[in-house]
Amino acid sequence: LSDRLGGILDKLKRRGALSEADVGEAMREVRRALIEADVALDVVRSFTDKVRARAVGVEVVKSVTPGQLVVKIVHDELVAMLGSDADPIDLNAPAPVPILMVGLQGSGKTTTTAKIAKRLTEKGKRRVLMASLDTRRPAAMEQLATLGTQIDVTTLPIVAGQSAVQIARRAIEAARFGNYDVVMLDTAGRVTLDEALMAEVAEVKAATNPHEVLLVADSLTGQDAVNTAKAFDGRVGLTGIVLTRADGDGRGGAALSMRAVTGKPIKLMGTGEKMDALEDFDPKRVAGRILGMGDVVALVEKAVENIDIEKAKATAERMRKGAFDLEDLRDQLGQMQKLGGMAGLMGMMPGVAKVKNQIAAANIDDKVFRRQVAIINSMTRHERRNPKVLDASRKRRVASGSGTKVEEINRLLKMHRQMADMMKAMGASGKRGPMAGLAS
Ligand code: GDP
Ligand code: MG
Repeated sequence: LSDRLGGILDKLKRRGALSEADVGEAMREVRRALIEADVALDVVRSFTDKVRARAVGVEVVKSVTPGQLVVKIVHDELVAMLGSDADPIDLNAPAPVPILMVGLQGSGKTTTTAKIAKRLTEKGKRRVLMASLDTRRPAAMEQLATLGTQIDVTTLPIVAGQSAVQIARRAIEAARFGNYDVVMLDTAGRVTLDEALMAEVAEVKAATNPHEVLLVADSLTGQDAVNTAKAFDGRVGLTGIVLTRADGDGRGGAALSMRAVTGKPIKLMGTGEKMDALEDFDPKRVAGRILGMGDVVALVEKAVENIDIEKAKATAERMRKGAFDLEDLRDQLGQMQKLGGMAGLMGMMPGVAKVKNQIAAANIDDKVFRRQVAIINSMTRHERRNPKVLDASRKRRVASGSGTKVEEINRLLKMHRQMADMMKAMGASGKRGPMAGLAS
């Protein structure tokens, strides 16, 4: 999205307050990002309406561009919509607390059941009993039993010929009898939603009165996830959602849609096949993913805190014109020092791997920054503006003045030349240097 963000940044002109047109322009980009991320259309619409309403008329403070401001508002609104507070599994009920796991086949119900059981027995030191209600596939019951052995959690002994409801009742009884704190009920799923599946799940729910009904949904299913969530919530009633395959390359749209459509919190996310690959849902991470902008928002926040925008803007203008001299380099070094080093800054920018490697090769760290600034400070103004005049004798003078060596000065000059060339090239190709982007 650096392109997309760049687009937003470029299109918006600096103004006093965000106008309808500014925001409308940016919203088109955001809309595209959301649709690409597989967010359901009506959710996209209601989301962009909400952001538009919030953004229009907001004063653009001096140190932030309108584009940055809109991106920030969009991001914050996404996080809010995804649910900004951690929402753990609620076990505040008389033991044994029943937890019902529902969802389509292959969504990760059985795996997630075991992951949650592992988490509860480990962290909360709770006693957990797991039971598989998947009567159609004996292999599914075996699967849960195997996972149980692996994570050292008891599973209800398998008795052939019982219905899902009978197994569920037996599980609750066994949990009561065995003094378990939690009983996890892993249900059967179908490849597609159908009435028989819904009826069975509803029946199990009525028989067990679960304290949590968690929908396990595959984040890679995109739009389908919305229909699944809507159907289960409508028919069975959900208390929360667990998003699986958050480790995959899905873009998080499913999370936003499910949350928006059901209003139910996303409590956890599965991040792999292993038993400990379960994390608290992280709305910031998912929001970033939906916008596809890596850490751009973090970068914007950090930059706004630290950078002297006006100065950067002037430098950026000079860079574009190809007039990047050693005074500009000194300003840049100072700002990059503030930003936690060039590598840190570059690391946050999407799509600058090449530049990043060059910088890393130049081995710039904090100490080096300081020495380089000292070198530049030891030059005359004329030398800083016209580095070409630095002959051998001038270099020796600068070296002794700054307590460095001539080789260091040569290295600095070489780096400056490379940066100036790079910036000229960026300017020529219509792209802009990192600092230029921030200051536009
Ligand atoms: P069920 O049919 O809903 O019970 O689904 P399973 O629990 O049997 O999971 C189906 C497959 O998805 C298994 O191979 C799991 O290992 C895998 N799986 C489940 N959750 C995750 C996850 O969060 N990430 C990844 N990468 N794989 C997962
Ligand atoms: Mg299963």
